[in-house]
Amino acid sequence: MMKYGISYGKVRAIFLSHMHSDHFLGLFGLVASLNMAGRAEPLLITGPKGTKEILDQVFSVRALAPLFPIVIKEVGEEEVYKDKFVEVRSFKVKHGTPAVGYVVQQPAVRKFDEKKAKGLGIKGEMFTQIQKEGSVSINGKTIKLEDVSRLETRNKIVYTGDTVPCDEVVNASRGADLLVHDAAFLQEHEEMAIDKKHSTAAGAAQDAKKAGVKKLLLTHISNRYDDRKPLLQEARAIFPATELADEGMELYFK
Ligand SMILES: [Zn+2]
Ligand SMILES: [Zn+2]
Repeated sequence: MMKYGISYGKVRAIFLSHMHSDHFLGLFGLVASLNMAGRAEPLLITGPKGTKEILDQVFSVRALAPLFPIVIKEVGEEEVYKDKFVEVRSFKVKHGTPAVGYVVQQPAVRKFDEKKAKGLGIKGEMFTQIQKEGSVSINGKTIKLEDVSRLETRNKIVYTGDTVPCDEVVNASRGADLLVHDAAFLQEHEEMAIDKKHSTAAGAAQDAKKAGVKKLLLTHISNRYDDRKPLLQEARAIFPATELADEGMELYFK
């Protein structure tokens, strides 16, 4: 976060996928930094069943204890966070321990068909009124909000965490702009993927295809592969709009 100029003081919530150490050890360094920065605002931490017990144990060590309020929420399939910029939902995935993925979605915005609205005589204050009340009446004629506007959906990003390919991921990912999917192994090491409850690159690509996402990003690739290109090729043969995740990578959306 420091390297990319992201202020950790602004973090309001942390969404953990599961309690394997490669997915939560970084939390304690962050909490120590927030302690030193004198944070006072509460921090929300969400994770699957079992998260609270583990975090409470670590935070009970005095040297690691947060000096600001922490709210730990165990989640399954539900809305876990919402503010005016973003809504976050969790969904259950299949891994060796309770695990969830997250859908991060910008709230839909209402777009007016200005030409149509003005043609029907809507002007000035009436735009506010129709949004508040759902309709306005002009010269005795009622014009409904739906007649002159529509809800425009915005970016949807899905992060699977660690998982085997599964229907839960497909269902949560329908129509997503970006699916960030576990792709730990190549198909030739499928047995290892099954044994460790991870996906192959081909499995991730099949989930992406079934869900009709716009783009797939392969992540959590096993460090047994010095060359990650074969994983990309394997996935692209099934789902062409695939990229490999990389530290510091930036992707641009509409
Ligand atoms: Zn794991
Ligand atoms: Zn992992």
